[in-house]
Amino acid sequence: MNAFKQLGLEDHLVQAITDLGFETPSEVQEKTIPLLLDQDSDLVALAQTGTGKTAAFGFPMLQKIDINSRTTQGLILSPTRELCLQITNEMKLYGKHCKGLNVTAIYGGASITDQANQVKRGAQIIVATPGRMKDMISRRLVDISKIEYAVLDEADEMLNMGFFEDITEILSYTPIEKSTWLFSATMPKEVSLIAKKFMNSPLEVTVGHKNMGSKNVSHEYFLVGARDRYQALKRLADANPEIFSVIFCRTKRDTQKVAEQLIEDGYSAGALHGDLSQNQRDVVMKSFRAKQIQMLVATDVAARGIDVDDITHVINYQLPDEIETYTHRSGRTGRAGKSGISMVIVSKSEVRKIKSIERIIQKEFIKKEVPTGMEICEVQLKASANKIHDTEINQEIEPYLNDINNLFEDVSKDELIKKFFSAEFTRFFNYYKKSKDLKTQSGSHSEDTYRADDNSTRFFINIGSKDGYDWMKLKDFLRDTLQLNQDDVYKVDVKDSFAFFNTDVANKDKVLEFFTDFKQDGRFINVEITEKKSRDRNRGGGGGRRSGGGGYGGGGRGRNDRSKNSGSRSESRGRRSDNNSSGRSPRRSSDFKPSGGGDFSRARKSRRK
Ligand code: ADP
Ligand code: MG
Repeated sequence: MNAFKQLGLEDHLVQAITDLGFETPSEVQEKTIPLLLDQDSDLVALAQTGTGKTAAFGFPMLQKIDINSRTTQGLILSPTRELCLQITNEMKLYGKHCKGLNVTAIYGGASITDQANQVKRGAQIIVATPGRMKDMISRRLVDISKIEYAVLDEADEMLNMGFFEDITEILSYTPIEKSTWLFSATMPKEVSLIAKKFMNSPLEVTVGHKNMGSKNVSHEYFLVGARDRYQALKRLADANPEIFSVIFCRTKRDTQKVAEQLIEDGYSAGALHGDLSQNQRDVVMKSFRAKQIQMLVATDVAARGIDVDDITHVINYQLPDEIETYTHRSGRTGRAGKSGISMVIVSKSEVRKIKSIERIIQKEFIKKEVPTGMEICEVQLKASANKIHDTEINQEIEPYLNDINNLFEDVSKDELIKKFFSAEFTRFFNYYKKSKDLKTQSGSHSEDTYRADDNSTRFFINIGSKDGYDWMKLKDFLRDTLQLNQDDVYKVDVKDSFAFFNTDVANKDKVLEFFTDFKQDGRFINVEITEKKSRDRNRGGGGGRRSGGGGYGGGGRGRNDRSKNSGSRSESRGRRSDNNSSGRSPRRSSDFKPSGGGDFSRARKSRRK
């Protein structure tokens, strides 16, 4: 008998499942569906993203509601518009053999009247984001006073996004005797609180350990100098020619910058963050789904709606502030039974965070070295050989073959192959031949290169942990007020009422000038140059400074012309950062497919000239 039928699902639902191509229930489905079909109780289910939670609540809900009634009986709350639409879609597919079923999506950014009209036609199930739902309730455009089933999907995310009050209010319009089903990937305190507040001795289903990631994901970390981050990222991409990835940054600003930089360097990349309009985000997501974008650079919040199944790599360009977030990030890969890799680029000061994450995900990280230039050349060569091998012959070239054959008349197959692949190989080879390895400096000497560096200025600033700063916050503050790049401020050491930090000498005047008369909350903030303490160990600041290096953002920094001309910026950056003779990234522009989204028209134009 069909495995889904065995769980107790009716034939028309089993038929829909077969149509969808699902063969066996996932673990969360296996555990949840029979429970929900059997009992009318509340439920808390914890399972990693991509484990099929939608079907776990969707099928029982579809089986239990009365299709012949026009009353709204099921309400599903989800954190984002993307997820809301996605769940609505799935529910429609699951219920495609339920005649008369009406599932309506309610979310911001679209016509409220249209949504109200759909509801009026008799929506048995409403899938909603909290904000718009509240709005519709207050305008009396929906009636949820008779619902029997309420689902809080991605509850941890909804709470993260500050929807606690909205959820409370929405649920206050629902009857007490309904069943509430809460689904979440992680179980932070807030979620247990909400479970206590809204539920009656809920059944519990846990798939894997609490907060544990998918078993299909392997975790790797790469230790690099803080300023080599961007170069490391590029190498990870170059060493994985078929990469289809999400790259996470901590801030919108870094997200935009990394994406722009990747595009300038010839990668097919795009940015996804909250400063883009909904329309821009839609365009980026569409290109990503269509695989026109290979590297999607995203903030945690913006990435919440990403439901793409075959992501090969998640790259943590920076670790998240809340390490629990790591589970969500890595859960973007290894979905729907496929395997995936979650990579973390860390500087020395962050390595201890890896240990904490290991405890949460209950899995060990593999420590890896950033690939060397020659390793990348080898991978690229093999990839292009495979590509050529698998290329289908285009008959349209027939008329030109005579000339080509004449040209190669005296060339043997052996020689031809050598020539052909040399053309490909040389591009990467020239780029990487003189580049230093981004080797881990795990020994205690890593800071010593910093000491020898006279190119850096150490500052004293009269704010400290007393004022609510830790090194990360201070770094962000300085970077944002001074309009510097992520790694322009380093060796940040926060004491109780003051702190120290470094910038390159080139930024010295800028820093001093800026803080000449700078007041915050009515108080003068002073900055002074302080003597460089050569033995001062890095206390969690920006990591080791390497004399020859200079990673992402390194190009413009050492010079006075902070010109906005991105073309020339990237030239100097390439040269300085990787010491490659040509100065250009080896990625050809033909690899680049326009993303069409975000704020990239500038970057793209500058590449064309
Ligand atoms: P979650 O909500 O846990 O993140 P989803 O419900 O979005 O996961 O499901 C992830 C993907 O897996 C979707 O594309 C869904 O269609 C697919 N899927 C769900 N259940 C099964 C199954 N039993 N067999 C195969 N694919 C499934
Ligand atoms: Mg889901």
